Amino acid sequence: MEEFDCAVIGAGVVGLAVARALALQGREVIVLESEGAIGTGTSSRNSEVIHAGIYYPAGSLKARLCVEGKALLYAYAAERGVAHRRCGKLIVATSAAQLAQLEAIAAKARANGVDDLVLLTRDQALAMEPQLECLAALHSPSTGIVDSHALMLALQGDLENAGGVVALRSAVTGAECGSGGIVLHSEDGTALRCRSVVNSAGLAAPLLARRFDGLPAASVPQASYAKGSYFTLAGRAPFERLIYPVPEAAGLGVHLTLDLGGQAKFGPDVQWVDSADDLVVEPSRGDAFYAEVRKYWPALPDGALLPGYAGMRPKVSGPGEPAADFLIAGPETHGVAGLVNLFGIESPGLTSSLAIARRTVELLS
Ligand SMILES: Cc1cc2nc3c(=O)[nH]c(=O)nc-3n(C[C@H](O)[C@H](O)[C@H](O)COP(=O)(O)OP(=O)(O)OC[C@H]3O[C@@H](n4cnc5c(N)ncnc54)[C@H](O)[C@@H]3O)c2cc1C
Repeated sequence: MEEFDCAVIGAGVVGLAVARALALQGREVIVLESEGAIGTGTSSRNSEVIHAGIYYPAGSLKARLCVEGKALLYAYAAERGVAHRRCGKLIVATSAAQLAQLEAIAAKARANGVDDLVLLTRDQALAMEPQLECLAALHSPSTGIVDSHALMLALQGDLENAGGVVALRSAVTGAECGSGGIVLHSEDGTALRCRSVVNSAGLAAPLLARRFDGLPAASVPQASYAKGSYFTLAGRAPFERLIYPVPEAAGLGVHLTLDLGGQAKFGPDVQWVDSADDLVVEPSRGDAFYAEVRKYWPALPDGALLPGYAGMRPKVSGPGEPAADFLIAGPETHGVAGLVNLFGIESPGLTSSLAIARRTVELLS
């Protein structure tokens, strides 16, 4: 049987960041990816926003790793020439009831160490974004956007320069966890004995962990899937910054994000689905977007929203339940030496990827 020091399952942005961090520590690393290319999962179906760390409960992993990850990501992108832009974002109140919520959001952000938010009057907000309609807004100057694929290529480059390898078309089907290490089984019948394994299989992570013999079933959460559909804007983007309404119960509201080419898109919305593979955008879901967007951009023309793409949130909490935190489950939680399971790595997972990697490496040290 082949032997390896560390195996990381999944070559999304988080798996690659973890693998890079392990390789930079001098460890022998292989990344096992089921698809024929890196980054074809959730890491290629998101908003590419570098989140500031505003909304998450104080002290949660999402709050701490987002703020830490944001700083690491800006520094890494600058150092490695990964395209990004610190464009900033406005969170806009469009009704009297939402004005108080802006204050609450600013307080939550401060509790997370995000102390650069500025409350703007309507006139100040419109001076920044003349097409906007709102009663007041919060400006987040540290929010930005990043080319997520360029980021993943840079992480892969660092991994390979440090001696690590990425094995494509290598789907892991299960494992045996024992005192002599963890034996991973692959679809092609091969087996690999490893000292350390990181399950970074994204949407598939909980299902895969259920096929790890020796891992207590109680340590694996139930997977749920919340699809988010995007609609792209035909024509020029009306704003230079990202525009978010005050958040709704299940998501961040129908917001506008930009890519580095200046293309604007709206979404993602929230639709609980049974299958992680349900990634088709239903054109009719765009109908509800118009009224929401016109609350802050009244000039949105009829027919300007085109079905874009959809992403799937790897949830470990179900509909109606409070949003769960990232679950970074190392040996101290499940008792299997050398194993870290990464569950529920939804947004802000891209922003947090380098910080999640740091934490995972600590758990394996
Ligand atoms: C709609 C949406 C919008 C988002 N927007 C943002 C945002 O703007 N900013 C932000 O910070 N975060 C955002 N996120 C979150 C972010 O995209 C994710 O947290 C991040 O991409 C997760 O990366 P990952 O590597 O964990 O998972 P993935 O990218 O899904 O990678 C998992 C990999 O594992 C592979 N795999 C699965 N099973 C196996 C197996 N058995 N064997 C081998 N390989 C396997 C898959 O093929 C895949 O390549 C968003 C998420 C969604 C859904």
